This record gives sequence, C-alpha cells and structure tokens, in this order.
Amino acid sequence: MKSFKCQVCDQLTFFENLSCVRCQHDLGYIPEDHNLATLDQNDEQLWQPVDGHPRGLTFKKCKNTLDWHACNWLIPATSSDIYCRSCALNNTIPDLSVTENIPLWIKLEQGKRRLLYSLLRLGLPVVGKGIDQKHGLAFNFLKDLKDDFQETQRVMTGHSAGLITLNLAEADDAEREKRRLNMNEVYRSVLGHFRHESGHYYWQHLIADTQKITGYRKLFGDERENYDKAMANYYQVGATPDWREKHVTAYASSHSWEDWAETWAHYLNIVDSLETATDHGVIITNNQSGQSFSPIDSYWATSFDELLEKWLPLTYALNSINRSSGQSDLYPFVLSRPVIEKLHYVHDVIRNARFS
Ligand SMILES: [Zn+2]
Ligand SMILES: [Zn+2]
Ligand SMILES: [Zn+2]
Repeated sequence: MKSFKCQVCDQLTFFENLSCVRCQHDLGYIPEDHNLATLDQNDEQLWQPVDGHPRGLTFKKCKNTLDWHACNWLIPATSSDIYCRSCALNNTIPDLSVTENIPLWIKLEQGKRRLLYSLLRLGLPVVGKGIDQKHGLAFNFLKDLKDDFQETQRVMTGHSAGLITLNLAEADDAEREKRRLNMNEVYRSVLGHFRHESGHYYWQHLIADTQKITGYRKLFGDERENYDKAMANYYQVGATPDWREKHVTAYASSHSWEDWAETWAHYLNIVDSLETATDHGVIITNNQSGQSFSPIDSYWATSFDELLEKWLPLTYALNSINRSSGQSDLYPFVLSRPVIEKLHYVHDVIRNARFS
C-alpha cells in the first residue's frame, strides 16, 4: 500500500484518512487513479482535488461517508450511483441501529477497501453483482444471532458463487484472537480473510473451466475431491504431519481449493507489503552479498522471483523488529520449495489476467 501526501500542507496521509490531520482539508480516494486526493468543495457542492483533476473530473462523496464516516472513496459526479465502487458491492451489512455494530462494520469496510486496492492495482476485473448478477462479486457482513448455541445459526465466513460472507465478530480483536487460538492458527486478520475469500472468487474465473485446470491440479491437487468430507476430516484429524513441506499453512492442506486460496492470500500479502516498504524508502539488501536491491513497483513485477528475493530479507527484518517490540512475528511463515512454486503460479495467473 502506498502512502499519500496532503496536496495543501505536505502532511503524510494514509489510505483510510477522511481528512488531513494537519490542515483539516477533506481527503477522498479516487479508485480509478489509485490516489488519495486533498479536496476542495466547489460552487455546485461537488468535490475536486485542490490542484484540479488531470481529466477535469469532479466528484461526489459516498453515502457511507456522508452518513457514517465509514468510507473515503469518491464517485465521479457524472455517475448516478450513491455508493462508491467498494460500498456498492455490499449485499448485506449489519444492523447499524445497534451502536456496537458500527465500529466493527467500519473495520470490515476498511479491510474490503484494502483488498480492492490490491485487486485494482493488479488489474483484476472487479465487477459487482449489481452489474453482473451471475459472475459479479458481492459481500455479506453478518452477525451471529444471539442464540448462537445452534451450530446451523452461526455465520460462516466463506465464499459462494461470488458472494463473500464475513462474520462481523472477525472485526472484534478479542473475539478474533480467541478464534485464532481455537483453530490453532499462527495468523488471523480481517484483511487476511478478505484476501483468502477473494482467492476462491477468482479461482472460479481464472482457473475453473479453463485450460489452466491441468497445470493447477499438478500443483494444488484435485479440487474434485469431496470438499465437505475433506473439511470434516481436517477439523477432526487436523493437518497431515508433513504439511509444512507442501503448504503455506496447515489449513491449506485441507483441500485443493483452500490451498489455492491460502496461497493467493499470501501472494497479495507479499505484493502489498513490498509496496509499503518501497514506498517508505526501506532499502532491502541481499542477505548474502549485502547488495541493495533497486526499488520496484511490486504490483508490476514481471516474475515472482523479483518479489521473492526482496520479500525474504524484508520478512527477516520485520520479524526481528516485531521481536524487539515484544510482539510475535509479523510474518510467521516458512516458504518451502513447493509453496514458492505455487506462488509463482499465482503470480503468472494474475499477470495473464491483467486487463489494465
Ligand atoms: Zn493538509
Ligand atoms: Zn463507499
Ligand atoms: Zn477458503
């Protein structure tokens, strides 16, 4: 993720900011430009970047900005939409008359926008179900019913035919940590969930029913294996003892689809973290030769090797910094040879799908 600069006072600004902390100017993200603009309001009550927009555009704010301060994405003034590109993907959101739901929902929206930032930067198609009901993407943010003693009443985070469901409880740090420990995971985050579930969605579009399926099965195994049985087995018996040799996480060993989604999520994590490091001027050096790598735009890397040679030394540094702060590792994973091969594959699939 890039950071941004206030165009009025030069203050460093961040993707989620609604206004500049120094000069108080409104900020708005323009997804088409991948830019967080500093805004002035014009005579028609529309918003425009203070230095003007390169294509002379003016913008409206998203309804979720006006009503809830839950969003900072802008809509071209010529559009009839009232929700931005991100909020327009919502199928269901939690009941906002329940005050405690609001901050949790806002956290989910932030995670979704970070996911969309990456997908758009990678040039992947992002089309909502409002435009393409069959192939489009949509989100359900749901809360467990109060009587959650019935297993069937519980909201399961997952993906089905383009609809990504997230349990609102995942935005609650204490609850998510409890679930992480229960599931014996080393890592669990809202953004990680979004990345993982988007992997299932894009699998359908980029792999299923294409010629890629043969190459896919060679790496990730046969997805025709009974999914429900595989899941039941995973939750009963756990991962195979040698999962570390073949999979990026224990959960990835449960079924071919989960292996793909976990690997996809890692790929997005790597690309975006490398962009953040590069953007902040972090100089990454080769651990062996001590030579510095020249900075790259990780979202446009030609090969996965280009990313990997920078990613590994960066994770060693980041993990060490976290340990110095008394925190657990930022990236608690080891990338085995087969996992690296799978990441290469994800990289190539995304590169071939790039349409912008
Ligand atoms: Zn400012
Ligand atoms: Zn919005
Ligand atoms: Zn999954």
